[in-house]
Amino acid sequence: MSLPLSPAYDAWLSNGGTIVTASDRAARNLRNAFSRQRLSERVQAWPTPDILDWTALVLRAWSDCALDDRMVLNRAQEEFLWAGIVADHSGLTAFLPEARHRLAQEAMQAYALLSNFSPRHLDSSARKGWTLDKAAFSAWLTAFDAICRARNAVSPGRTALEIVPRLATDATVRPPLLLVGFDRLQPTQKAFLEAWGPWRFADAAEPARTAQYWSASDGLQELEGCASWCSHFLQDDPTRSVLIVSQEVAERRGEMERAFLEHLPGASSTAYEFSLGIPLDESPAPKANLLMLRWLTEPLEETAIDWLFSTGYASQAQAEKLALQAAMRSLRDAGLQRPNWTLAKWIQMASRKTPLPSEWTQRMQTAERRCAELASVSRQPSEWSEWTVSLQREMRPQGDHALSSAEFQAMRRWDEALDTCASLGFSGARISWREFLATLSRVMKETLFSPESEDAPVLITGPSEAAGLHADAIWFLGVNENSWPPTGKAHPFLPLQLQKDAGMPHADALQEWTLAEAMTARLMASAPIVQFSFARRSEAAEQRPSGIALKIAPLQSMLSARFPALVQDQTLSFRDAARIPLTAEEAAGGARILTTQSQCAFKAFATYRLGARGWNGGQPFLNHLQRGELVHAVLRSIWSGPPNGLLNSEDLQKRLPELETFVSSHVHRLVPHILRGNVEDWMPARYLDLERTRLTQLMTEWLEYESARMPFTVAGVEEPRPVSVAGLSLNLRMDRVDRLSDGSAFVMDYKTGEISPTEWRAPRPGDVQLPLYATFALPDQKLVGGLAFALVRAGKAKYAGHFTHPGETLFAGLRSSDALIKSPLTLAMLDEWRHCIEQLAVDYLGGRADVDPRKEMDTCRRCDLQALCRIRENRSLGDEVAEEDEVSPDA
Ligand code: SF4
Repeated sequence: MSLPLSPAYDAWLSNGGTIVTASDRAARNLRNAFSRQRLSERVQAWPTPDILDWTALVLRAWSDCALDDRMVLNRAQEEFLWAGIVADHSGLTAFLPEARHRLAQEAMQAYALLSNFSPRHLDSSARKGWTLDKAAFSAWLTAFDAICRARNAVSPGRTALEIVPRLATDATVRPPLLLVGFDRLQPTQKAFLEAWGPWRFADAAEPARTAQYWSASDGLQELEGCASWCSHFLQDDPTRSVLIVSQEVAERRGEMERAFLEHLPGASSTAYEFSLGIPLDESPAPKANLLMLRWLTEPLEETAIDWLFSTGYASQAQAEKLALQAAMRSLRDAGLQRPNWTLAKWIQMASRKTPLPSEWTQRMQTAERRCAELASVSRQPSEWSEWTVSLQREMRPQGDHALSSAEFQAMRRWDEALDTCASLGFSGARISWREFLATLSRVMKETLFSPESEDAPVLITGPSEAAGLHADAIWFLGVNENSWPPTGKAHPFLPLQLQKDAGMPHADALQEWTLAEAMTARLMASAPIVQFSFARRSEAAEQRPSGIALKIAPLQSMLSARFPALVQDQTLSFRDAARIPLTAEEAAGGARILTTQSQCAFKAFATYRLGARGWNGGQPFLNHLQRGELVHAVLRSIWSGPPNGLLNSEDLQKRLPELETFVSSHVHRLVPHILRGNVEDWMPARYLDLERTRLTQLMTEWLEYESARMPFTVAGVEEPRPVSVAGLSLNLRMDRVDRLSDGSAFVMDYKTGEISPTEWRAPRPGDVQLPLYATFALPDQKLVGGLAFALVRAGKAKYAGHFTHPGETLFAGLRSSDALIKSPLTLAMLDEWRHCIEQLAVDYLGGRADVDPRKEMDTCRRCDLQALCRIRENRSLGDEVAEEDEVSPDA
């Protein structure tokens, strides 16, 4: 924002006056404008202008008045004291640190409200008669004042109040104050100013020449309309500035960034900036520091480790970063992912798969050992703070990653956060390492960080933070009936009538309306052009226009010629029909390649030719892949023939009397081998017991179903079978092939989810494994007696497929209405599948890769490649369907 300094402000400062702004941001803006003014006058040096925000003015007055030697608490110190009081005075919450600190923050707010709006209630005698939560707070407040007296400390919320008598009696001549951007004065502010001496409000500027009020159909259209309007406004004159005001900057930050990146000239992130920062624990470099420290003594979420490795903040050189990422990939490739990892376990498991960078391992293990030694006792917060710095050096002595300006500033705030934590030693308290980390995490959450302003032409801010800011145009987003005037809640720790009488925020609807009108008038006087807008539909509710905005301008629809980007589609579409044929004929992936080609050609190309795949995270329980793997392994073992398994229906009949015991022995033997990654280490033993029981019951039920079959012999279990389809070589592996009583082959595929033979229908089958095997893996199609999904599901075991003679080879006594009888296997079916499968192979070999999902909702929901094909950007998909399914052995 680079508007010139108002001549009136310049004159005030030149005459020895002080300018006081409502916000820190406004003070910085005015100081920058002052410097630009002097530079434009070719002045070489000038005295620092006396421009400061209200908080800085009060602290300066406190220091100048030298009232006494009491220490002004910082926010963390005050919260620490309140949290201690809450713990001493309450019951169960005392054992829940987060709840205790939330209550402490509420208490701090209530204390500041009383100090600023109703100081007489700081006296306990004025609080007699308060009941319930208010009475509890009143007791805390008495305790807080006593502790402050004992520790010779004072809350910053109380400083302005305490200075007033001193200012009133001190005859020192103080500079006159010019107040900029104040919508109203709190009673204590008024008393402070009266005691200070000369002061006045800055004259209001002329109200805006142009004011308009727009309605958009939804939030997205509103943002895009605003960004597109800003783009045109700035293109006409690039020296202009625009202030975007919104009450939802934190919630809609991502959407806003996308809209402005897309529409602003140059499409660069330097074209706009936010005045409201993000919590320090979301700023990458400090966030990484905290995660690394946590990892030394506690398990870290796998997603956090992924993030650390991918950003490079966990390593000190590019080679280390790549090696750590490769190690994480190798763990996933081996199916060893888990929800969280201790550092020791991660190093142990990852180093089994791939060599880890030895220096990184050594540094981390040394830091971990030091932590284990020192963290066993409680220490002063300042000791922990110093120790944190040395641990950081231990883990990452020097990186080859040069810090950007924003990272450098963020790291300065990280150092300040450590200093804040160290300052908790003022009370002499000793805390554990765990408590120190929790405090550091809390301080980071409460510290908002934004890089220094670079005078971007567009500044995005909140209505209160905009106080004192001026621009060439203002756009106020989200101005609807429910949000403007804003609706807030009265404070739960203070009596409602007291809040109303004292004029505290959110206590009275009329006061809220008056304050919102004052803020609107201030915005109207802050730019020659002011735009208001709102979305008619938000969060599935219809919204109506704000009465305050309607008093200023009539409502217009955003879909007009003023917003060309909204009414004209700027996208140029063209059909990309280029294909890159596959040169190698051999394809790793078996039948799954052609199934995928049928489901979506792009998915097949990306998966089997580009190696793209989803990044499946660990879960606290067995996932559908692991469960499917267990089912396959147990059935493979059971039908593996003598000495431990079964070979035919006769063997099965003999086992029926002790079937469950027989199955259970297979389950107990196999589970530890199949569940890799030592899941027993971290999954509850009772849960794994239940899984074993569930699997035993499922398998027993399935074998009971099979025992009703007509005589059969198992001819092969998961045997590899190479085939060639239209020149494409594949390696197939069927779950099981049985020899039926007429000598024909029955191929089956175990499934634990819902699936039907309609999935085989040409020309876009959803699954080709069985038809592919039946038409290409058997020497003669006349030998195919049947193909079916073996649906291994609790209470619903059955075969679903087609058989040439099901009544004579599968089950005796099938009814004519049975699906197996009604839809027998025919040579025509086999022919149709054969042609369809050949065409899929031809398409795959030819490089066909169009984004064309077979059934968009279903196919895309089960696919992890949305980020690559970008189908989500054009279509909205529902939530993922969690369905138990299995991995085909040839997948
Ligand atoms: S998400 Fe849908 S369109 Fe995209 S690759 Fe997967 S199946 Fe194809």
